[in-house]
Amino acid sequence: MQELTHYVDGELVAGVSGRFADVFNPATGEVQARVPLASKDEVDAIIAKAAAAQPKWAATNPQRRARVLMRFVDLLNRDMDKLAEALSREHGKTIPDAKGDVQRGLEVAEFCIGAPHLLKGEFTDSAGPGIDMYSMRQPLGVVAGITPFNFPAMIPMWKFAPAIACGNAFILKPSERDPSVPLMLAELMKEAGLPDGILQVVNGDKEAVDAILDNDTIQAVGFVGSTPIAQYIYSRSTANGKRCQCFGGAKNHMIIMPDADLDQAADALVGAGYGAAGERCMAISVAVPVGEETADALVEKLIPRIEKLKVGPYTAGNDVDYGPVVTGAAKENILRLVQSGVDQGADLVVDGRDFSLQGYEDGFFVGPHLFDRVTPDMDIYKTEIFGPVLSQVRAGSYEEAIGLAMDHEYGNGTAIYTRDGDTARDFASRINIGMVGVNVPIPVPLAYHTFGGWKKSGFGDLNQHGPDAFRFYTRTKTVTSRWPSGIKEGGEFNFKQMD
Ligand code: NAD
Repeated sequence: MQELTHYVDGELVAGVSGRFADVFNPATGEVQARVPLASKDEVDAIIAKAAAAQPKWAATNPQRRARVLMRFVDLLNRDMDKLAEALSREHGKTIPDAKGDVQRGLEVAEFCIGAPHLLKGEFTDSAGPGIDMYSMRQPLGVVAGITPFNFPAMIPMWKFAPAIACGNAFILKPSERDPSVPLMLAELMKEAGLPDGILQVVNGDKEAVDAILDNDTIQAVGFVGSTPIAQYIYSRSTANGKRCQCFGGAKNHMIIMPDADLDQAADALVGAGYGAAGERCMAISVAVPVGEETADALVEKLIPRIEKLKVGPYTAGNDVDYGPVVTGAAKENILRLVQSGVDQGADLVVDGRDFSLQGYEDGFFVGPHLFDRVTPDMDIYKTEIFGPVLSQVRAGSYEEAIGLAMDHEYGNGTAIYTRDGDTARDFASRINIGMVGVNVPIPVPLAYHTFGGWKKSGFGDLNQHGPDAFRFYTRTKTVTSRWPSGIKEGGEFNFKQMD
């Protein structure tokens, strides 16, 4: 069996804690590798090495730093097939979807090639008599990212590309469920010219995470994962005086107005609800048609589309719509929630519970499920299921529909399907959710905009990637300067005004 490693100072390094976690092939259910779980001592030593390397990197001019990312983008394209295969093997998503995972991270690296421009400061000439004032953005030092299993390429890149472009050293603690691609990305960054120690990958579980959160050298922590862990990491990091942004779970609603193109809406719901087996933080998990007629017509259009979905292993090629979920435990949890929906009185109109795939009986496949007549008091409505389960909640009016989305504790993404500009504009303006689609089901902003949810989907005040990332990974220093040839006034005892 393959034994994975950490990545320290430009080398793949074996773990020494003696603790490991199994890494599965979700399509077959087999354990294909084991990943070392770092101890606190290992994490502290890895951070110390990053701290030793960081000052030289910070002093490297931003154009040179950007050129590393420029070469990295080329290498990602060169190795796209290899990365996608490794990603699908551990995660289970289809190859085209795995390529999308790499691509949406690559685009953030591409954005970061603009670091010299994005890091420019501000200057005021003659802010006072003979006085100039300027602000500069300086790197924080050593920063860390703790990332989830569902985008093992994209989310690490969302974090380390801007952090490193800004002149920081970065400690990546990827998900222990699919750690191979993050290690491959670190090797590509070295090949692209990144000095050793600037990107360290430490594999581990809660012990490694806590070691990061309690380490005084770490200046900032970026997290993406489930809400309870996001909240925990946010409170522990900020209590330790660190800058912190934590992105959590989701329950994304799509509102379908009576004037919507229902074929377009049904196609969108099937892709956004079941793509990647529903394991996306921007998946649509709740459909809210407005009016009984819309609801009846929508269900009629959804059922044949859902029954036609092809579920299978990534090795089956482009013929598969979605693959297995990530672990046996994830599958059990999804099926437990489906049962709770049945017990609490929702109509299970497409039942995927008996799904089994010949030759892959031990794989973690879950058939597609569609619930109708779901109500807000049910567990399947309140909880993020993170599986191929779509719930339809019938709303009597637009106000009731928008109210449902606004009252839900999560606020990551949402969408409205309508032909009416007034309704769409009202929705986009009033909704208390971070990312909004108008006739677009998964409105993930592009790299040069920013990504972040509201309410229990995001803790902290800046979003990921785009210009916010350059703010998060730098701090501003403002210098007020006067030279000896300036006006000499003698001692000054009052608070100075520049008038
Ligand atoms: P998770 O919270 O289980 O794990 C995320 C990271 O936290 C992993 O690196 C894991 O090792 C670590 N971790 C887990 N338990 C911990 C603990 N007790 N103490 C310290 N660290 C711990 O999440 P996941 O299952 O890997 O990912 C799925 C979740 O991520 C979903 O809820 C999904 O909505 C969310 N997600 C959110 C976004 C977003 O941008 N809002 C994006 C992708 C995924």
